[in-house]
Amino acid sequence: MTQTTTAQTHSFQTEVKQLLQLMIHSLYSNKEVFLRELISNGSDACDRLRFAALMDASLMEDGASLGLKISFNKNENTVTITDTGIGMTTDEVIENIGTIARSGTRQFLDALSGDAANDANLIGQFGVGFYSAFLVAEKVELTTRHASQPADGGVRWVSDGEGEYTIETVAREERGTSITLHLRDADKEFAEDFRLRGIISRYSDHISLPIEMPSQEKEKKGEWEAVNSGSALWSRPKNEVSEDEYHRFYQSLSYDTEAPLVTLHNRVEGNLEYTSLFFIPQKAPFDLWDREQRHGINLYVRRIFIMDDAKYLMPSYLRFVRGVVDAADLPLNVSREFLQNNKDIDRIRSASVKKILSELSRLAAKEPESYANFWNEFGKVLKEGIVEDHDNRTVLADLMRFNSTRSEEAEQTESLADYFKRMPIKQKAIYYITADSHNAASTSPHLEIFRKNGIEVFLLSDPVDEWLVSSLGEYKDKPLKSVAKGALDLEDLATPEDRKANEAKEKDLAELTEKMESLLGKHVKSVRVSQRLTDSPACLVADETDLGGNLERILQAMGQSAPDAKPIMEINPDHPLIRQLSPEHSQLEDWTRVLFDQAALSEGAPLPEPAAYVQRVNDLLTKATLTGN
Ligand code: ADP
Ligand code: MG
Repeated sequence: MTQTTTAQTHSFQTEVKQLLQLMIHSLYSNKEVFLRELISNGSDACDRLRFAALMDASLMEDGASLGLKISFNKNENTVTITDTGIGMTTDEVIENIGTIARSGTRQFLDALSGDAANDANLIGQFGVGFYSAFLVAEKVELTTRHASQPADGGVRWVSDGEGEYTIETVAREERGTSITLHLRDADKEFAEDFRLRGIISRYSDHISLPIEMPSQEKEKKGEWEAVNSGSALWSRPKNEVSEDEYHRFYQSLSYDTEAPLVTLHNRVEGNLEYTSLFFIPQKAPFDLWDREQRHGINLYVRRIFIMDDAKYLMPSYLRFVRGVVDAADLPLNVSREFLQNNKDIDRIRSASVKKILSELSRLAAKEPESYANFWNEFGKVLKEGIVEDHDNRTVLADLMRFNSTRSEEAEQTESLADYFKRMPIKQKAIYYITADSHNAASTSPHLEIFRKNGIEVFLLSDPVDEWLVSSLGEYKDKPLKSVAKGALDLEDLATPEDRKANEAKEKDLAELTEKMESLLGKHVKSVRVSQRLTDSPACLVADETDLGGNLERILQAMGQSAPDAKPIMEINPDHPLIRQLSPEHSQLEDWTRVLFDQAALSEGAPLPEPAAYVQRVNDLLTKATLTGN
């Protein structure tokens, strides 16, 4: 019995309306991508049904085999795309393509550049593919029945893309989805056999399900024929795949308009057989830093799609890698839990990581410019590898690039190996400073003595750098040492005469530093004479075993509690401001507090009492003016 409700009218959410307006009125070029998007959705729906049927075979009961059919009607100006996939329930229709803006919608709108050709290509990237139907259609009719629903449990959805849609319950014989596009007059060209076939072979040839169209041969009238070659590209021998084919396959995975920076196609034989095809993009995707983002590896078993977003195949620090792994010996009904604890998967993953890292090493050595581009896009992510991946730390360390005092620019171009080569033999450590910006790092007073002695210091200002240096610890047996922590190794920095002179100054100023220490009280661990400063009067130093100011601030910003370790204040014995101070100075307290606050400011630390600081500075300035000093 067919039970049909009357159609109900719903309204799209504002963001969806904006998106539709844009599809209809602004994106003129590259309209053909609508077909790629609808085919991709149909193919996904078939993959999902196959996967669901592994648990519940009854879902496939009505027998229709998985695939897509594309037909057109020239007289009525329509194109229809039908799939025998899982279909949608009423709620799913409303949620997936109806009222509610999907998470990518806003980001898509924000990412638009105004260049219509480029913008049309972004559609798939942001998960708003369905709406691309409105690039060519003035009305879209969708009928669908979820595989779990009875024959009268279908849904019909109709919209002209102008803000509203209707939805009603209908009968639908076959499970799956049909989408009929009523083409605009200007877009009639798409109701044309050769046009549709051309688009399919361009964008969807590799889809492994049959995509069929009505045969145009007279004697085969009424028959359907496959129009895609459907061979899984990765299963073909490397030397038979052209660069252009790789490129288009990559595009179908990533929706990236540019060619990939790196293509790695590999077949592994032996007791664990698999094929992998990996791509590294030229540009970071918009969701590189989104924790919820989907990972880029699709898992197949003997060419049958198992799942995308296969997290266990690639560590998170290589989340920008796109591609396919096709394993010969896994069961077809693998679950995510199975993958998590599977030895074969672990082996595939570890071999894949090694392959990718060795390709990056090759790039760094042979094509430094390409590597520099790669680093600009993905360096911050790759740095996480030092923390996450103990096994590959040595290789990863050589892939790292940092900024150093050697260059004026903020670009990260210096490697540990080059630093190592440049450093004087007697230098005991590899020096670095961390701060929350390149500017704060490069202007830090801690660098003064290093600059004076011509010793290179890495300037680190990515948040991950703090974890990187503490995980790495050393490079080729030289410890990585913060210039802002602990005592300096004076053998690297001072002549024996300098050291003698310093000891004398320490003695002379012992009373002053003690007095200052008691004036600062709970704010410092101690006050001492500095070996680091040449130009600034004072600086703050972390004790050897403390976290350091920058890391404490990062942790606090992340909402984590950081032990509130007190810094050590160091004063520059040769600075005129310090030289005019003595334990008996009438304004010693004001001076001490101002020096302390300034040292904190130059580290990029916020002052707890900015008003008190300003007041003190003004008092001291007024006094200096009045006395003519
Ligand atoms: P995406 O494919 O990136 O998720 P789309 O806008 O193309 O974004 O599709 C939105 C959602 O609508 C899909 O995720 C899917 O849940 C649903 N959908 C679209 N087309 C179909 C279809 N032919 N069969 C089943 N579900 C579909
Ligand atoms: Mg889609």
